[in-house]
Formats: sequence, C-alpha cells, structure tokens
Amino acid sequence: MIYHMDGNQVLNHKTQQEESDTRSTRRAGLELRSSGLSEKQDKKYENMVDIAEAEQLIRQGLGRRGMRRNDSSPSRGATNGSPHDISAGAGDVLSEGIQGYGRLTQSPSLQRFKLFLNMTLSPILLIAFVPNLVIVIWFTVMHCDGSYWTMVTKLFSQRSILTGIADMWRVVNMPSTPVLYILSGYGLYALVMMRLLPGKMVKGPVTPKGNVPVYKDNGFVYYLVTLALFWGLTYTLRPYGYTPSIIYDRFDEVLFALNTFSLVFCVFLYLKGLFAPSSTDSGSSGNIIFDYYWGTELYPRILGFDVKLFTNCRFGMMGWALLVCVHAVKSYELHGFVDSMVVCVALQLIYITKFFWWEAGYMSTIDIMVDRAGFYICWGCLVYIPGLYTSPSFYMVSHPVILGLPLAAFLLVTGVLAIWVNYEADMQKQMVRGSNGTCLVWGRKPELIRARYCLENGQEKESLLLASGWWGMARHFHYVPEITLALCWSLPALFQNILPYSYVIFLVILLVHRTFRDDEKCARKYGSFWQQYCKKVPNKMVPYLF
Ligand code: NDP
Repeated sequence: MIYHMDGNQVLNHKTQQEESDTRSTRRAGLELRSSGLSEKQDKKYENMVDIAEAEQLIRQGLGRRGMRRNDSSPSRGATNGSPHDISAGAGDVLSEGIQGYGRLTQSPSLQRFKLFLNMTLSPILLIAFVPNLVIVIWFTVMHCDGSYWTMVTKLFSQRSILTGIADMWRVVNMPSTPVLYILSGYGLYALVMMRLLPGKMVKGPVTPKGNVPVYKDNGFVYYLVTLALFWGLTYTLRPYGYTPSIIYDRFDEVLFALNTFSLVFCVFLYLKGLFAPSSTDSGSSGNIIFDYYWGTELYPRILGFDVKLFTNCRFGMMGWALLVCVHAVKSYELHGFVDSMVVCVALQLIYITKFFWWEAGYMSTIDIMVDRAGFYICWGCLVYIPGLYTSPSFYMVSHPVILGLPLAAFLLVTGVLAIWVNYEADMQKQMVRGSNGTCLVWGRKPELIRARYCLENGQEKESLLLASGWWGMARHFHYVPEITLALCWSLPALFQNILPYSYVIFLVILLVHRTFRDDEKCARKYGSFWQQYCKKVPNKMVPYLF
C-alpha cells in the first residue's frame, strides 16, 4: 500500500498490479496535457489524471520523463493575451528541487520510513507533547518567575522528563465550577451569536472535490458585540466584586478544561468524518493516528454550525482577544497604568480587529482550504491560541515594565505599519481574484498568471496568481510583517526572560515551514504555472535572502 498525503487527501493506492496496468495510460495523459495537443484529444484523457495522481507519478519517476519531452511546447491556455498576463510557458511540471526530492524518495525503504515518520511518529509525538507545552508556559510564569531556566532546573534536574512533567501537572488544578460555567457559557454564547447576528452569505473557495462551502459573514459584528459586552460587564460588575481577572488567576483550570474538551472533541470529529461526513471532502487515510491528528473532514458541520468557523474564529481568535483584555484588567488591578502592557494589548487587539474585519478572506487561507478539522487545527485553535499566543501579555502581568513614550510609540507605530502591510497583502490577493484581475495593484495593472488546475474529479478550473505588489516581492512576503508585528508586541517585555518571545519563535518556525508546505501544495496544484511564478518571484519569503 502506498499512501500519498497532500493535506486534503490521502490516496489509498491500488495494488502494484493495478498500478502498473494504469501507468501507461496515465503517462500518456500527462504527456498530452503538457504537449498542447488538440482540445478533443486532450479531453479524452481529462478524467485520467488529477493533481495528486500526477505527483504520485512524479514521485515514482514516471511523470518526469513524460513531461520533459514537451519542454518546448507552449502550455495550453496559459494566457488570455493581456500584456500583463505572464504566459505560463512550457517546462517540467515541477521544479528541479521537487524532482530531486522525487528521485530521493523513489527508494521504497526511504518512502516507508518517511510515511512512518509523517503519518505515525510525528503525530504521536505532537499529540503527546504539545498539550504539555501550554501548561509549561503557565507553570513557568506562575511558579518560576517567567524563567524557563528556573523551570528546567525545578522540574528536570536529576530527574527523568516524565517525572518532571508529572510533577508539573500535580500543581495544575482541576477546573472549578465557575471556570466550567464561564467556558461553557462562552461556547454557547458564541454558537447562538453565530446563528443570530446578521451577515451576508459568502462563498468559500472551491474544494478539491468541487464543493463550495458557504459561510455567514458576521464575524466582525460578533467581535464588536463581544468586546462591548466584555467591557460593559467588567465595568458594571466591578462594584459587586466580580472581575474577569478570575480567568488569569485560574488559568491552569482553563487550560486543563480546554485541553480535555479538545482532545475528546477531536475524537468526535474523527468519528463524524468517518460515519456521518457533511460533504464529500472527507475520508480516511487508513491510519487511525494520522486521521485523528489531521482530521477526516475538510469542513464538518454540526446542526448547521461550521466547526472550523467556531473553533478557529469564534472561540480561538475571539478567545485570544478576550484573554489579552483580561490581562490588561489584571495588570491594571495590580499596578495601575503600565505602558508596556498598553502597547502589547493594543497591538494584539488591532491585529485581531483586522482579522475579524477580513474574516471572509480567512476562509480562503491554508487553515481552511487545506487543513482538515482534526487535532492539528482544532486543538491548535482551542488550546494553543489561548495558551501560547497570549503568553506575552500573560507574562507582562507579573513583569511590568515602564518603556517611556519614545520606545512605546516606536513599537506601536512599527506594529501598526506591520499590520497594515500584512492586511494589504492579503487584500491584494483577494481583490485581484474577486475582480478577475481588473483592479489596480499599487496603482498599476496587476501582473497575473492565469493558472489552470484540475479538481479531483478531473474538472478543469482557472485561478489567478498575482505576481506584482506584495506578491511580487516574495511568494510569502506577508509573513514578514506578521513576524515583525509579533516581535513588536513581545519587545515591551524587554529582555529579562525568553518566555515572552515564545510566540515569535514558534511563529517563525510555523511560517517558514508554511512557505515550504504551501509551495509544495501550489506546485502540485498548478504545475508549470507555479513554476512560472517561482521564476518571476524567486524568493519564498524575504526578497534576495530566502
Ligand atoms: P496565504 O494567505 O498566503 O494563502 C496561501 C494560498 O494563497 C495558496 O495556497 C494559494 O491558494 C494562494 N496563493 C499563493 N500565491 C498566490 C499568488 N501569488 N496570488 C494569488 N494567490 C496565491 O497563506 P496563509 O493561510 O498562511 O496566511 C493567511 C494569513 O494568515 C496571512 O496574513 C498570514 O500572515 C496569517 N497567518 C497567521 C498565523 C498566525 O499564527 N499568526 C499563521 C498562519 C498565517 P490557491 O489554492 O487558492 O491558489
């Protein structure tokens, strides 16, 4: 059995005999596709090859031979004739790098090892390890004065890692009744608001199976209403002794409850995807561990509620905003006005405001288009965002710093600029696609690649790749302002400890890895069109460097 993982699908391939029977036909199909033969001839093979199969062939060293033969022939339908459209000319379907990778992975034992690593070992390690990570952050702030070094010596010196971790969990309290009420009340509130608040229906991107999910675009109203309710209740209940800082004081209970709920919820999602999927974008890889980790459905719905809209946006992102407000309240109760906390919280709130303003655009990002609803994305949004993303302001509650106006203003302005660049980049992509390239980018006609690709059912589609504006500087330039911004809201903690930089460090790893992941995904999806884009915009993330 050969498995091929591309994020949305895991193909359970046929027996070797069946495989070899179909190889020659598929190869012929690939050759025709890239040779620019007549539409009629091409149609004959249209249903035989899809993107994932093409990659599978390339990995087996077959597609490469077929495609190379046609290096000089123009790619079918590559341009619409506009002087600003870049013709995705001929060439190998995938870049040299991927061909090299393909050659390397031809060895069956190496392939087996890679599959075991990607689909079993890494998921097991991640599922076992990351739930501890958010507790480590909490423990370090609350019991080790924010110092990882103190935490390591306290927990692990002259003891095994497992004993240290067990000792750490021993100081974590089980969720108390008020915490359970707050969390379940908030979850219920979010669901009711998803249904009740007004918003127009927007279409998500077409999925690999050809479905078009529809979402209610009421995220921004939800965000404003929720923040107004938070501050209104904080102000009115204060005289009666109620304060939201209970969430800060009992954050161990919160993390315990979120961890438990999410791990169980992911089991439910796993089973739902297998036995009652909401759409055809579902299925099993045949590996139970990988299925739990990655998910069995792309966009599950429960009683009409979109699961990822709930976990990622309404719980994860909104929870982030509420938690930094809780930190601001707690800091004010302890120390009064602290400018470092103001900078840190203000930048995070502006960023999250931008997120909700643009929530419909988020539906066309990797989190939604590629990642299935499993442990990776759902646990990540339900636990990792509250536990890790909020760590700079969580730390600053007990480590107040007075920055002074010049430094505070500098960090604030730089951070706002970074948010603007990141937003503009996201918007450029959305605008160009929304207007079918008829808009202006930085005051000029955009440079476009009209890229064709096939859905899994063989249906052909066209998509626009923008090769100017921010998308002409590097293929994922918008990650640079994302990282700069995170640095701007972490720097107010200054340099006493590494902990407030945990999120930035994580973000750099996540986004650099994403540049590779997305390049691979797009190379598979768009073939020579993506290669054309890579030639025009050679850097992944940082112009001239990377
Ligand atoms: P992108 O918004 O970059 O989406 C990638 C997709 O965009 C590609 O798969 C492709 O999809 C399409 N695309 C790629 N190149 C082009 C192009 N030149 N022109 C048009 N479309 C293109 O990725 P993310 O989902 O990673 O990021 C979305 C936002 O979320 C960003 O602002 C990012 O900074 C932020 N983010 C924040 C994180 C955090 O934890 N703070 C983590 C990750 C992202 P298609 O198949 O449609 O062609």
